[in-house]
Amino acid sequence: MDKMASNIPVIMVIFGGSGDLAHRKLYPSLFNLYRQGLIHDNFAVIGTARRPWTNEYLREQVNDAIHETFTEVNENDVKNFVEHFYYLSHDVTNVEHYVSLKELAQELDDRYSAQGNRLFYMAMAPRFFGTIATHINDQKLNGTGFNRIVVEKPFGRDLASAKELNEQITTSFAEEDIFRIDHYLGKEMIQNIMPLRFTNPLFKSVWDKEHIKNIQVTLAERLGVEARGGYYETSGALRDMVQNHIFQIITLLAMPEPRDISATSVHQAKQELLDSLIIPDEEMLKQHFVRGQYAGSDTTFAYRQEPNVASDSKTETYAAGEVKFTAGPLAGVPIYFRTGKEFKEKKSRIDIVFKHSSTPYGSVHSNNLTIEIDPRNRIYLRINGKNIFESGIREEKLTYALTDEEMAKIPDGYERLLHDVFVNDSTNFTHWSELERYWQFIDKVENYWEKENQDISEIIQYPPYRMGPKEANQIFESPTEHWIYG
Ligand code: NAD
Repeated sequence: MDKMASNIPVIMVIFGGSGDLAHRKLYPSLFNLYRQGLIHDNFAVIGTARRPWTNEYLREQVNDAIHETFTEVNENDVKNFVEHFYYLSHDVTNVEHYVSLKELAQELDDRYSAQGNRLFYMAMAPRFFGTIATHINDQKLNGTGFNRIVVEKPFGRDLASAKELNEQITTSFAEEDIFRIDHYLGKEMIQNIMPLRFTNPLFKSVWDKEHIKNIQVTLAERLGVEARGGYYETSGALRDMVQNHIFQIITLLAMPEPRDISATSVHQAKQELLDSLIIPDEEMLKQHFVRGQYAGSDTTFAYRQEPNVASDSKTETYAAGEVKFTAGPLAGVPIYFRTGKEFKEKKSRIDIVFKHSSTPYGSVHSNNLTIEIDPRNRIYLRINGKNIFESGIREEKLTYALTDEEMAKIPDGYERLLHDVFVNDSTNFTHWSELERYWQFIDKVENYWEKENQDISEIIQYPPYRMGPKEANQIFESPTEHWIYG
């Protein structure tokens, strides 16, 4: 991360200041940005939530959050940092509280010379996003300087609700001031997709439909829904993982080369691609999409036995499918995805499968390029070479990997993205026009599955801690295709 700017004056308001996200991610990330000087003297953070906390109590919480995250900190830095935090007990549905919030923000702006700059962070349940945005507008909470808003996921639960939310937010914020955050876009290997594609002439020259047979994106989780059953019942794997993270990854893999790496050019390239996104028809949905739910075992609960999950739930904990575009370098190339809970291991990876032709050595492996996002950060290319002692061909890996030391220093995705918000770089945030396309696609799949639910008593049950439903091995367009990771 470049230290592009220092000491940005701002009053930041965190809605949901007593929540899990604020504690685990936002406070430690802000502290690191403070240590680097990006926010330093002229900033204050107002944490708001319903609980009757005091400034001192919030500061203790921030102090704890920092010590839980970092092993080595300068206690003087921590002490100075937490003094910038203020707490306001605030029910976001109560209009009067916005008046107190506005007054406190103005008072702190004067005290810290924040130049009228405001940054609002919605770290709360999504059902409150629209209410907060409307009140910010009605109660004129915006300052006289910049006014930015960070909106957490999920942004809506279908196209209609996303549109409604977007309209509420755009009453007070211009599109360029809305930062729809997807922490996947802050991950090292996701940020490495563009450099990999566009700075290596070797890859650039083969990144097209003539050379790539298919691409496979896998975001596998080892855990089940844990305590999040209630939320998950309203979401499912498709909305929770595909609508945002998987689509962002696919967009980066398939978009045309941007003119430069400015936010405008990158978003233009993404939009150009998404204009050609094929919205799946019934035939495609039948052939190339699979969903499932994890079953129980002797020692583990089935999804339907989890707390706050309906005993006849048809919510999918696994989804696999196909995405295709009619334009861009990969026009017509199948991009397969799968994501789910209770896989054999936690793993996020992308496999790019190159076509191969006949060789004088007979049939050999194709050159697969794999980008591992989690838990390791590495890229490897499978190449063929001769066996040392016997005749024939063996497969080897050329690997680009970060050292343990480098891995330890990688900033958290939230830190990177907060940095970008402060310096007004929207490259790694989702534009409304992108989101609209993603929702059109997701709605089509959801509607098809909902219709199907009326005819089936239950959806596919898959064994826990393996690779998901075996039916997902049948989603390919040709019998010569199969999952590379398995
Ligand atoms: P949380 O339940 O831990 O926190 C919610 C916060 O909202 C709490 O501070 C609570 O006091 C406050 N709150 C609830 N009702 C309120 C009201 N009426 N008025 C004022 N405050 C109220 O939730 P979280 O896990 O921190 O998630 C927040 C958002 O971040 C969600 O949109 C979630 O999807 C997203 N997110 C969270 C994580 C994570 O790791 N926790 C990761 C990615 C995205």
